[in-house]
Amino acid sequence: MKQKAVAKTENPFVPKPYKILEFYRETPDTFTITINMAVQHAPGQFVQVSLPGIGESPISICSDSREHIKLNIREVGNVTRALANLKKGDTVLVRGPYGKGYPMESLKGNSLLIIGGGCGVAPLKGIIDYVENHRSEYKDVQLYLGYRTPDDIIFKRELDEWVKKYHLNVTVDKEAHGQFCYDVKEGFITDALKKSDITNENKVVFVCGPPVMMKYVIQILKDKGFNDDQIFISAERLMYCAVGVCCHCMIRGKFCCMDGPVFRYDEVKDFKND
Ligand SMILES: Cc1cc2nc3c(=O)[nH]c(=O)nc-3n(C[C@H](O)[C@H](O)[C@H](O)COP(=O)(O)OP(=O)(O)OC[C@H]3O[C@@H](n4cnc5c(N)ncnc54)[C@H](O)[C@@H]3O)c2cc1C
Repeated sequence: MKQKAVAKTENPFVPKPYKILEFYRETPDTFTITINMAVQHAPGQFVQVSLPGIGESPISICSDSREHIKLNIREVGNVTRALANLKKGDTVLVRGPYGKGYPMESLKGNSLLIIGGGCGVAPLKGIIDYVENHRSEYKDVQLYLGYRTPDDIIFKRELDEWVKKYHLNVTVDKEAHGQFCYDVKEGFITDALKKSDITNENKVVFVCGPPVMMKYVIQILKDKGFNDDQIFISAERLMYCAVGVCCHCMIRGKFCCMDGPVFRYDEVKDFKND
């Protein structure tokens, strides 16, 4: 008897091994790895990165390439510290990509305002790389990037290039010393934004950073006349499965892992106290 063909489906929980093509130390506590994972993805999506016997962490993809993905990681605990000990040629386990990214297709023709704080600049770099590959589809690009000190500035190599192409504003909370190809102002990124003459005309905004920074940025944008549906935020909730099973990242019926991590602000603005 002829056996019925069974369609093979990928098990979304099973990670695969990938090689580290580059390990780059960005700051004393952050590094960027490039891995040979050739996968279609949208800016803002994330992967689950794991090391056997240690654990697994969700990390945003911070690049836009069909040949590899880049991950910028801050060392905060077991998994991220163990990942920091890897080197070029080592293997890491990855599953994904997961989540909904920024809807770049539907935002064509707009000017982009990209506002990031600290490690929150990582997912936003995915947008910047995407725009680089689709430059004619978007108008003006303005970057507002805030860090604690000059030593905390991630993507210094890329900033040297971004300053030539985009309107770049970099702030550090304190001690604006050091030699840079771009101007670094002392103060919060919210101060720079407040002082700017930005209007909401034909613009979409992407914000990612610590919750307190996002709160003030959104308030400033609203004061400047931006509507909630012009603003996209990225929400990082503790999560395990990344595929809507464990329910750990659920906020009022929405899964951060599947419905997010990118949300249009009007969809989640009432969740802020959850
Ligand atoms: C969608 C998504 C994308 C992310 N992208 C990145 C990224 O691009 N780069 C990066 O460095 N980190 C990113 N993170 C955070 C990263 O997943 C955690 O820092 C990591 O899992 C910590 O694991 P650990 O074992 O090293 O530390 P743990 O020992 O598990 O935690 C150390 C500390 O970090 C806190 N923590 C752990 N996970 C989170 C979280 N999700 N949100 C807030 N605090 C957390 C813990 O409460 C604890 O205080 C992302 C998280 C999510 C949900």
